[in-house]
Amino acid sequence: MTFYRGRREAFLYKSLSYGKVQCLICPRRCIISEGGVGFCGTRINIKGKLYTLIYGECSALAVDPIEKKPLFHFYPGSLTFSISTVGCSFKCPWCQNWEISQAKPGEIVTSHHTPEEIVKLAEKYNCNSISYTYNEPTIWFEYVYETSRIAGKKGMKNILVTNGYISEEALNEIAPYIDAANVDVKGWSEEFYRKYCKGELKPVLNACRRMFEKKIHLELTYLIIPGLNDNLEDFKGFSEWVLNNLGSDTPIHFSKFYPHYKMKNLPPTPIQELEKARNIALHEGLKYVYIGNFPGHEGENTFCPSCGEKIISRYAFNVTSHALTEDNRCKYCGEKINIKGKITERRKHLWFFT
Ligand code: SF4
Repeated sequence: MTFYRGRREAFLYKSLSYGKVQCLICPRRCIISEGGVGFCGTRINIKGKLYTLIYGECSALAVDPIEKKPLFHFYPGSLTFSISTVGCSFKCPWCQNWEISQAKPGEIVTSHHTPEEIVKLAEKYNCNSISYTYNEPTIWFEYVYETSRIAGKKGMKNILVTNGYISEEALNEIAPYIDAANVDVKGWSEEFYRKYCKGELKPVLNACRRMFEKKIHLELTYLIIPGLNDNLEDFKGFSEWVLNNLGSDTPIHFSKFYPHYKMKNLPPTPIQELEKARNIALHEGLKYVYIGNFPGHEGENTFCPSCGEKIISRYAFNVTSHALTEDNRCKYCGEKINIKGKITERRKHLWFFT
């Protein structure tokens, strides 16, 4: 049998008859026969027990601006320590990180780090948060759970950058240790999710609702892919849903698509499409609507929803100036802005590892 350094007995599974097990981490709820692996390729049934193969196996470690997650309303201007592994519960053909998200355990080089080592590195590089990002964090649930518990005890914040495909049981377990999340909403129909992601929309929306109820700071991203999910009715439906379920204070990000992976045949998103989506969402009543991956566009700034003044200026992933009071109110009119934590104006250096 192949030796996997990151092998640990999994959390959240149940034993079935004939040596089968059912994984309860994501809504796919894979039933796995002895010797088999789940859809994500990272969980294996050995003699009737379920094991993760990727505990502590890091495919990337990096220091990122928190705006890169994207989180624009959570400790703006701060640095976050980003970590990832391999595998995903979806198979999106445009994935920007497909080299890691579609890799199987052992297929690419990973470095092994204990949760304590990750927390120490985050502290060393002046990060006040750890982001579980680049590939789907639910996939290495056990490691995210243990790292976030240890980090939280030291006052470090924990962030999920996720497709939102997480079971109710898994979310209930991990929610007490998670401070913020960016959920990537891939499109606005079950058909779209089934056809392109091999997943479902409804559980993602349920997870967003539950995160909101559990007071996890939440921002959503919608990548606009020309010809696939750029229907104006979809933007309207998505915006209405956010308004009715998460409230007008929830920040949303419409992002530009770049041709990549199996979708190199499609053009990049024209700026007009992003502006249309943003206008629809603002018209629906959402207060903080951003345009992503267009450095220099006014849609990357924050405007006060009351007086309309620009209160946070950004360029790409940097906060360049702001007009917020100590308690995150607009300096011009006193409106309370939905910002968690203190804003920092600029960063000095970024470090990257592999
Ligand atoms: S995490 Fe999801 S995809 Fe992976 S084995 Fe468990 S249920 Fe299946």
